[in-house]
Amino acid sequence: MEIRKDVISLDSGKPGKITTIVAGIHGNEICGMKAFAKLIPNIKIIAGKVNFVYGNLRAIEKNVREIDVNLNRLFRPDDELTETEKSSYEYSRSQKLKKLFDQSDALLDIHSSRNENSVPFAIVAKQSFDIAQKMPFKIKSSGWDIVEPGGTDDYMNRQNKINICAECGYNLDPESIKRAQDIIKIFLKLMGNIDEDIKLYNGEQKLIHAYYIYHTKTNNFKLNKKFKDFEFIKKDTLIGIDGEEKIVASEDSYIIFALNKNQIGVEAFILGKKCLSEEK
Ligand SMILES: [Zn+2]
Repeated sequence: MEIRKDVISLDSGKPGKITTIVAGIHGNEICGMKAFAKLIPNIKIIAGKVNFVYGNLRAIEKNVREIDVNLNRLFRPDDELTETEKSSYEYSRSQKLKKLFDQSDALLDIHSSRNENSVPFAIVAKQSFDIAQKMPFKIKSSGWDIVEPGGTDDYMNRQNKINICAECGYNLDPESIKRAQDIIKIFLKLMGNIDEDIKLYNGEQKLIHAYYIYHTKTNNFKLNKKFKDFEFIKKDTLIGIDGEEKIVASEDSYIIFALNKNQIGVEAFILGKKCLSEEK
């Protein structure tokens, strides 16, 4: 996809929140960008300003997830980054995006998945639970800024600003693009930027707290089976084999983003648990 301008700002000229919506932090997650193409020509901003932002420009142009490193791990202080990260193309992008996020009151980051069975969900922290509750997600999930620091969510959480990272479902499903559009509109409506007649979600929404991430110890991590995102697994379930070592669940959990890996030291799966209260 060719991008002519990396930031499209629509300013109402009236007081109100500065809201930033970003798509393509992972370049091949086209869902958010398709939603932008449908929304931007028709949207009317009545208060504040809205920035529509294309995240990883070069990766979007090449339709790949990233050029050098994962852009969504670079939104951390410089002294927490490796030399490889700091010399990457993505680092220069993160510097520009950080400035934009600093000027924003709220951020919505749109992602989608290459996995056909992916479950749409929202990554959120406490200050954004109320907003997420009105979006069409059956699951919201907290704790990601701890298990995967350096995401856009982590960056905004450190400033205690409203932010949601929306995982919209399978990339090639038209439903995902529709969902992304609805989510963007709901977010802008709740931020007061638009005044469209939009149905807010009022169904059930489970809170799953991500508490553990597994990094591979060898270059041969094989899952015991394919796991659906948020599939429930009992304590002691065999998740996979890392080299020779059996990796099992230490407690009853929901497993998320589980993938076979042939590299050492990379993220292989995340475990979450259900929270009954919304204290986390
Ligand atoms: Zn993504």
